[in-house]
Amino acid sequence: MDVDLSKYLTKVAGYKSASQKARILTEAWASDNLECPSCGGALILLPPNSRASDLQCRSCGETYQLKSRSKPFGKKILGAEYNTTIQAVRGGSHPSLILLRYDPSNLTVQQVRILHRSWITEQSIIPRCPLSSQARRAGWQGCLLSIDAIPSIAFVDVVQDGVIIPTPTIQAKWKIAHSISALSFAKRGWLFLVLRIAELLPREFSLQDMYAYEGLLAKLYPANKNIRAKIRQQLQIARGLGLIQFVGQGLYRRIS
Ligand SMILES: [Zn+2]
Repeated sequence: MDVDLSKYLTKVAGYKSASQKARILTEAWASDNLECPSCGGALILLPPNSRASDLQCRSCGETYQLKSRSKPFGKKILGAEYNTTIQAVRGGSHPSLILLRYDPSNLTVQQVRILHRSWITEQSIIPRCPLSSQARRAGWQGCLLSIDAIPSIAFVDVVQDGVIIPTPTIQAKWKIAHSISALSFAKRGWLFLVLRIAELLPREFSLQDMYAYEGLLAKLYPANKNIRAKIRQQLQIARGLGLIQFVGQGLYRRIS
């Protein structure tokens, strides 16, 4: 595995559009160089328009959608057609997202993070305005994926600053990100919020630190009259899943 995209240049001869070239180069790189973070199997490229997925693991069938950019990813990522995306999320069939940033000046892959599919919920899908009646695909409605509210534990680093992360580290992080698949979607909303708040606190934090966000949570969940109990319950769930450690003396520790 290396981070060189230039060896795939023969595949883009004849293409004019820069975005198309980038897509072809990074897809070819991903299928040659990335392993399935779940089982270590090879990733194969799916035919274009294979529902929402671009790559699939030959061994376990996990699916992935590749998003490539030459600039850093922002808070929101351009998604596919809105209804298809929502249906896929509800049905638990939405692929994980491979977020790849490359350097166009020397054609190298700089950053690859994989967002585990279990952390993509309906709350993170934002509908866009349908295309106007003058557009070629009139009425077509896209969506945006809001990624800034997703806890960082959901993202598995594969390449950082042009350096490839060792496979055992990738697979261990994937396993942690995968652990919330055991919870129903309805139970994930609160957990995500509590984990996201924990990321704003020192690595070791107390219940009191968490309670400082009671007001914010009460605004988000006005019907809940016992926010503190809910926080304790969610920390308990997070501990059970191995997403947070309890270090004694009323202190918790984030694992990332
Ligand atoms: Zn696999």
